[in-house]
Amino acid sequence: MQARIHSYRGGRNHARHIAEDRPSPPEDHELQEYIAPNWAYSFDVDSVEGIDRFRRRIRDAEYAVDRVEKWSHILGTYTSYRNAKIAPHVAIVNMSAAQDCVNYGTKYCQVEGSECFAARNERDFPMPLHFRRKQEIIWSLLDPVTWAKAFRLHVQRKENDVTTIRLNEAGDFSSRHDILKINEIARRLPEFDIYTYSASSWLEWAEADGFTVNRSNDGDYGHRRYKVVDSVEEIPAGPEHVLCPYDATDGEILCGDCKLCINEDGPDIYVTMFSGSNQ
Ligand code: SF4
Repeated sequence: MQARIHSYRGGRNHARHIAEDRPSPPEDHELQEYIAPNWAYSFDVDSVEGIDRFRRRIRDAEYAVDRVEKWSHILGTYTSYRNAKIAPHVAIVNMSAAQDCVNYGTKYCQVEGSECFAARNERDFPMPLHFRRKQEIIWSLLDPVTWAKAFRLHVQRKENDVTTIRLNEAGDFSSRHDILKINEIARRLPEFDIYTYSASSWLEWAEADGFTVNRSNDGDYGHRRYKVVDSVEEIPAGPEHVLCPYDATDGEILCGDCKLCINEDGPDIYVTMFSGSNQ
């Protein structure tokens, strides 16, 4: 018993020492230097709308006693639900803005930069651009273990069910690191279906595990081809080539209710109504 008391006291002292030894949080005027500094991103971080408050939220989460709980609220703010094509039980998470997408305007994307729906949306309305750039900052800062725990906590607070995570309605995977990070998130969140569309054919997709990859160009990767066509006549014959049910029903069937791109197995999908960035 005496030994247990000693060890308990020792543990408490140890925790107190850790707390005392921790460096104090950066002051508000130092945040620009410590959290999402301009030099670390391809866009002008300091011009993102509300960046000061956003940096303070991140600082407060990082120094909170319950770090996951604080991050769950940030993730909740920067996870969107429901767009014209996506059912409300699908969480939409972006790794970047469309204009910052690694494939934007390159030969890898299946549309010209000027035709990218998501980038046009960012040009026409400022808020999606600011929102997605904050999502990019979150994606770059948060480790997958905390991300998964915080996301689950965010979903537990929601009144509506969430079944699926759609990665990148704007933006794309930009490195092997992104693939490995999603592998870890998928491993820790088995209760969610996770899927994406990617034009990053230059990545090593054989390492992707636990989520579905729809390939947006003619490379040899992912679970199926997802192709934009000008008309249904361009769709090859046969059961392995299917017109997207959203297009076929004029928007009646939404992604999430339809799982053709979410399931790992299934036909190639063809769309005539383009409504994303790398889709
Ligand atoms: S095939 Fe289904 S999941 Fe894929 S884009 Fe069309 S509606 Fe969405």
